[in-house]
Amino acid sequence: MSKIVSEVIAANDVYVQNFGDKGKLPLPPGRKLAILTCMDARLDPAKYAGLAEGDAHVIRNAGGRATDDAIRSLVISHKLLGTQEWFVIHHTNCGMELFSDEIIADLLDDDLSTASFDRKTWSNPHHHGGHAAGHFVKWHTIKNQTASVVQDVRRIREHPLVPQNVPVYGYVYDVSSGRLEEVKAATEAGRAVA
Ligand code: ZN
Repeated sequence: MSKIVSEVIAANDVYVQNFGDKGKLPLPPGRKLAILTCMDARLDPAKYAGLAEGDAHVIRNAGGRATDDAIRSLVISHKLLGTQEWFVIHHTNCGMELFSDEIIADLLDDDLSTASFDRKTWSNPHHHGGHAAGHFVKWHTIKNQTASVVQDVRRIREHPLVPQNVPVYGYVYDVSSGRLEEVKAATEAGRAVA
């Protein structure tokens, strides 16, 4: 067993011992909110937004982008599980700002192993076994956090399967302070229409 696997299993044993009555939680989120946010390891939505098990849906992907699959989850979240307010939360210093579709496609075309970044450019440690498939993927990179939050809130708001009475709020999480800063233009764009 790898070190990581044994650490995860050991931590889970402790979690199970302290599980309490959480097995009785209902399936629908108790506080009726959903958060779409980035997968960045420094972000812990349960902590930064004060969530406990059973409270909320948290949908995560690279960048916290409103991709087709993120919207699929949000639609299920409201339609079948009753969430009534949604947050889109991007963050400062996001890795999605550090490359373009062309850069990642070229890196993957050359080699699949982990690339390195010198604060300016990405490079591959090896140069074999790459694949051209990366040129055909839309990677949803980010040029400007504020603009990306507005874009994503607008995309959700304007989606035909998203009801007009669900407000969508836009925020940027500051990784240097832990603070959520509202993107007013996004929240305005995501305003519910009663
Ligand atoms: Zn990120």
